[in-house]
Amino acid sequence: MSRLGSHSFVRLLKCNVRCVRICGGQRFKSNEPSEFEHPVSRTIRVLKGDVKNYFSLPEGEKTFRKQHFLSGHCDVLVIGGGIMGSSIAYWLKQRARQGLHVVVVEKDPTVIPNNVLCYTSASTVLSVGGIRQQFSVPESIQMSLFGAEFLRNVKKHLYVEGHDPPDVQFTPTGYLFLATEKGATQLEENYKLQQELGAKNELLSPTKLKEKFPWLNTEDIALGCHGLRDEGWFDPWSLLDGFKKKAINLGAEYIQGEAVGFKFKSMPDVMVEGVEPGTYEALDSLLIKTPSGDIHPIKFGLCVIAAGPQSGAVAKMARIGNGAGYLQFPLPVEPRKRYVYAFNCPNGPGLNTPLTVDPTGAYFRREGLAGSFIGGRSPDVDKEPSTENLDVDHQFFDDYIWPHIAKRVKAFEGLKVNSAWAGFYEYNTFDANGIVGLHPYYQNLYLATGFSGHGIQHGPAVGRAVMEMIIDGGFKTIDLSRLSFDRIITGNPILENNIW
Ligand SMILES: Cc1cc2nc3c(=O)[nH]c(=O)nc-3n(C[C@H](O)[C@H](O)[C@H](O)COP(=O)(O)OP(=O)(O)OC[C@H]3O[C@@H](n4cnc5c(N)ncnc54)[C@H](O)[C@@H]3O)c2cc1C
Repeated sequence: MSRLGSHSFVRLLKCNVRCVRICGGQRFKSNEPSEFEHPVSRTIRVLKGDVKNYFSLPEGEKTFRKQHFLSGHCDVLVIGGGIMGSSIAYWLKQRARQGLHVVVVEKDPTVIPNNVLCYTSASTVLSVGGIRQQFSVPESIQMSLFGAEFLRNVKKHLYVEGHDPPDVQFTPTGYLFLATEKGATQLEENYKLQQELGAKNELLSPTKLKEKFPWLNTEDIALGCHGLRDEGWFDPWSLLDGFKKKAINLGAEYIQGEAVGFKFKSMPDVMVEGVEPGTYEALDSLLIKTPSGDIHPIKFGLCVIAAGPQSGAVAKMARIGNGAGYLQFPLPVEPRKRYVYAFNCPNGPGLNTPLTVDPTGAYFRREGLAGSFIGGRSPDVDKEPSTENLDVDHQFFDDYIWPHIAKRVKAFEGLKVNSAWAGFYEYNTFDANGIVGLHPYYQNLYLATGFSGHGIQHGPAVGRAVMEMIIDGGFKTIDLSRLSFDRIITGNPILENNIW
C-alpha cells in the first residue's frame, strides 16, 4: 500500500511522460518494467492497441478523435480556457514543448468568424483589467509585481510569428486607495509591506493629495496611497487572446466542449486518510459534451480545474464536497455578480487620474480619452444579486455608487451613464482569495481558481506556478503553498485587510 506524495507523483508523471513519448500514450502502464521489452516492439504493440481500439469505436467518437487526437488521452487536461487556463497552457507548453500533450476544454459556445471562441460570460472578458500591488496578502503583492513585469514584456512573451504582437494597452496610471481615520493605520501597514516586497507606492496626506489631484474632495480623508509604477489597467481580452494564441502556437490544443463529469478508476493500493483501505478511486477521464450534444471521454495524466465561477460546480463532478475524508470539503468557489457602469463626464478628472478607490469601496477610472469613465462597487454581503443571468441593476448605480463618487469628485455630480455590464467574480466564499495547488485527495487534480475579483492580474503568475508544480514538483519562483486547498480543511482563511 502506498500514499504517493506530490513529489513522487510528479516523478511518476515525468517518467510517465517519457513513457508516453515512447509507447504512444498508454498512461499508467509505466510501472511495467520497460527494460524487459524492446522499445520498438513496445511501440508497435501499443500502436496496434490504439489502432484496434480506434476502429472499434462508435462513428461519433471516431469523428471527434479525428478532429482532435486519435489516442483519446493527453498528459494535462485543463478545464476552462479563461485567463487561468490559458496561462497554464502557455506556461506548460513554453517549458515542456513537445514533452507534454496539453488540452484545454472550453465550453463557451459563442463562435465568431474564423472559428474563434469569444467567451461571452467568462470573468476574464468582463473584467475591469486592473492591476495593483496594494494588497495586504504578500502572495498577492508578489503575483501582481510579476504580472506587471509580464505585461511590460508581453509583446516578447506572447509573440507569434506571422501575427501582430498582442497590444494589451497597459496604462500604468496607478491606483489611489483612500482611507478615513478608521482605515488609515491599516493603509499604512499595507504600504509598509508593499514597499518591503518591492512595490513603488507613496503615502499622501490630505494636503499632498489635494496638490496632486486637485479634483479630489479630501474633507473626510485621513490618508491616501498612490501607486507610482506597475499599477493601472490593461485590456483583458487582448491578454487572454495573446495567451491562447501563443499556447496554441506552442502546441496546446483547445477543444470546444463542456466538462460534464469524470470517470473514476479503482486504485486499491493507494491509501488516503479517511478512506477505507482498498476503496480509493482516482480520476481517470473527463467527459466532454460537444456542441453537437455528444459526450466524449478524454483520459488524462493530470487535470487542472480553472473553470472560473463554475469551478465549485466542476469540482463537485469529481465528488469534491460529496464524499468522505478530504472529499467532504467542497471547493468554495461560486459566481457572484458584479456591475460595471460606463459614464461620461467631459469636465471630469484628467489623464493622470489613477484608479481611485473610495473608503466605501466605490471605484472609478478613466476609459480612453474622451471624458469617459467606468466605475463600480461590490454590494453589501447580505444584498448579493441573483446569479441566474447577467442583467444589470441600473438603480444600483444611483443608490450605491453615484452618491459616493459625486461626493469625491464634484464634476461627477453631472455625469451621464452611457452603458453598463455585469460579470461574475469566481468568488471564494471561504476567504475571497485564490486556491492554487494539488487537491489533497486526488494525486492528479490541480486547482487554480477563486481569485474573487483580482484574478486577471494574477493570471501570469498562477500559470507559471501551476507549471512549476507540475514540472518541477514544487514552487520555484513565488511560493504559493499558503494558497493550497489545505487551508479550507484546517480552517485557516487568508483574509485581505480592507481599508475604510
Ligand atoms: C466585473 C468584474 C471586474 C473585475 N475586475 C478585475 C480587475 O480589475 N482586476 C483583476 O485582476 N481581476 C478582476 N476581475 C476578476 C477576474 O476577471 C477573474 O479573477 C479572472 O478573470 C478569472 O479567470 P478564470 O480563468 O479563473 O475564469 P474565467 O475567465 O471565467 O474562465 C473560466 C472559463 O471556464 C469555462 N468553463 C466553466 N465551466 C466549464 C465547463 N464545465 N467545461 C468547460 N469550460 C468551462 C468558462 O466558459 C470560462 O471561459 C473582475 C471580474 C469581474 C466580473
